[in-house]
Amino acid sequence: MGLTVGSVGKNAYGGDLVPEKHKNEKIIALAGNPNVGKSTVFNALTGMKQHTGNWTGKTVQNAQGHCSVGENDYLMVDIPGTYSLLAHSAEEEVARDLICFGGTDAVIVVCDASCLERNLNLVLQTIEITEHTLVCVNLLDEAKKKKISVDLKKLSEELGVPVCGTSARSGAGLAEMMELVPKAMENKNKKIPQTVYPEEVENAVQIVASVIENKSDGKLSPRWTAIRLLDKDEKLNSSISEFIGINVETDRDIADALKKAKKYLSENNISDTDLKDIIVNSIVRRAEEIADKCVELEKPDYYERDRKIDRILTHRIWGVPIMAAMLLLIFWITIEGANYPSELLFGALFSLGDKLSEMLSACGAPEWSRSMLIDGVYRVLAWVTAVMLPPMAIFFPLFTLLEDVGYLPRVAFDLDRFFKSSNACGKQALTMMMGFGCNAAGVTGCRIIDSPRERLIAILTNSFVPCNGRFPTLIAIITMFLTAGAAGLGKSFLSVLILTGVIILGVVLTLVMSKLLSSTVLKGVPSSFALELPPYRMPQIGKVIVRSIFDRTIFVLGRAVSVAAPAGLLIWLLGNIQIADGTLLTACAEFLDPFARFIGLDGVILLAFILGFPANEIVVPIMLMMYLSEGKIVEYEDLVSLKNILIDNGWNITTAVCMMIFMLCHFPCSTTCMTIKKETGSIKWTFAAFALPTVTGILLCALTANIMRIFVR
Ligand code: GDP
Repeated sequence: MGLTVGSVGKNAYGGDLVPEKHKNEKIIALAGNPNVGKSTVFNALTGMKQHTGNWTGKTVQNAQGHCSVGENDYLMVDIPGTYSLLAHSAEEEVARDLICFGGTDAVIVVCDASCLERNLNLVLQTIEITEHTLVCVNLLDEAKKKKISVDLKKLSEELGVPVCGTSARSGAGLAEMMELVPKAMENKNKKIPQTVYPEEVENAVQIVASVIENKSDGKLSPRWTAIRLLDKDEKLNSSISEFIGINVETDRDIADALKKAKKYLSENNISDTDLKDIIVNSIVRRAEEIADKCVELEKPDYYERDRKIDRILTHRIWGVPIMAAMLLLIFWITIEGANYPSELLFGALFSLGDKLSEMLSACGAPEWSRSMLIDGVYRVLAWVTAVMLPPMAIFFPLFTLLEDVGYLPRVAFDLDRFFKSSNACGKQALTMMMGFGCNAAGVTGCRIIDSPRERLIAILTNSFVPCNGRFPTLIAIITMFLTAGAAGLGKSFLSVLILTGVIILGVVLTLVMSKLLSSTVLKGVPSSFALELPPYRMPQIGKVIVRSIFDRTIFVLGRAVSVAAPAGLLIWLLGNIQIADGTLLTACAEFLDPFARFIGLDGVILLAFILGFPANEIVVPIMLMMYLSEGKIVEYEDLVSLKNILIDNGWNITTAVCMMIFMLCHFPCSTTCMTIKKETGSIKWTFAAFALPTVTGILLCALTANIMRIFVR
């Protein structure tokens, strides 16, 4: 058959359908069910660091990487994890389109050795499209522990394509797998034992396939094309037409053949719905047959341990309290652990700043340039680093550990009923958890939700989860104002409780807003979906720490710093441009002040939020600069001196509480807004995502401030 490069189209996510490759490179697609180790295989082969984790739906777009074996150069394309290629969701569509029309030279289908039968559905569907398929039976080490053995030779005979066994985590078998790739590319086995459908369906398929065979010039499997045309997938029709260069909807011969086949089917009492069921059931049965022949189970109840743990962690009553306790524990370790390193960093970075400043003066640098570089750029950077780095370096590895063990899908499971009652989707809980890291990542992660209505709800509400840019500020405000009276363990425990309360408020707001949206502009019933609970796996602690420090912490800090440096410069400039009897900055703050005071803040805080649009991390440094009205961040050793600065500028407990509420509910940062625009393709929805948390935040702050003013003096 030989797939050739088709026309450059767009996939369901707007990405290019045909990957861009270097000359002479062969394109190898990596397909597989979610959580089978596809990203691990991809990373091991390409040396890349595509995020891996023990839960469904991380690979939400086609990642690409290069890999060379001997003389052969490959472009590896990691496609989203899917259970089938029947295109029920955008992910399945992307996977199918890449395999069919993406010019792939071979497809490696990665399978989980311990649940091969379910994985074989995807293998059988792939083989229907292309015989250039290589089956990689991964997680052999895990299967061995569960006393499951797979007869790889027999499997290869049954499927008619090369098969290899791997344990991708340790890299075992990957070199052998790559040696089989040329074999898969050259595979000319036209007699691949295909899934056999009942005789009536086979006859109907044959009627259409024989016509397609004459017309399609070997570009697509006639049998597969015939099945899809009979199965009526209108969206696919245009892709097929474009690819084979014949309009399958208007071509007379094809239309006649389809009519004839349909007539034949209805004479045999097979309706369109029956046909769909027959196709799916036949594949499932064939997978079952093959698994029966090739898999040997010594202990059939190998999931018993997982089920026992799940009975506790996903308990109807205890599931949620356990989850809250887990969250509490993580926050406690983060707050308690971040204190000391944060103080050390403050001290070290600010005294380094002084040294740099002295050096610049000694070198004869003009005062304005010294002030701009040190007071403007350096001090903002120092602040961002000292406040953000320690909590992130603790929180991210802990969170990644939970992810690696397999706990996060259980959280989604626990929260599912709450989301259902808000007419939204339980998978939204997973996208919220991605939002903890970064809201832009959370918004992209919403692609795992199949229903466009529910996806939009998840996107619009994602910023109610505080991302890492807002997280450290929340912690700082809590320790300065709300728990200042307490000491020692009591203090950190109280801080943790309050922080958890803030996060729970975020979750409650997400649920309320989801309900509101789904009963107004985004009406609909919740879709049912199967949330896979992957097996629990021992986390690789060392790798998790290294990965979360380098991939996430340094990355996020790098992003913050790259935004903070120019922002620091801009603010320095604004703070040094004199107009009338103040600076441009103070004039803007004064303008905003009356409204800001009504919602419990002040003009400076509100202006800091507005100027902090590029990144939430810089809101507090901007605020400090303005308070100190020298156009620079002054030196202070720790949070106590910071608190004094704030109190001197009129802060009280009401300001602190309102600041926290507004930190939780305000417009998403510019990166997130751009991501929302990209994901929804609509200015209107981007604006809605901007307005929803902002209006909520303003209302909540106004309410809180005015109530607190009555009770708190
Ligand atoms: P994907 O969803 O298919 O991309 O799966 P990932 O590559 O993210 O892997 C899911 C989890 O399985 C991760 O925790 C991996 O470390 C783990 N994993 C992947 N391959 C193997 C393997 O061969 N053996 C074991 N024991 N774990 C593996």
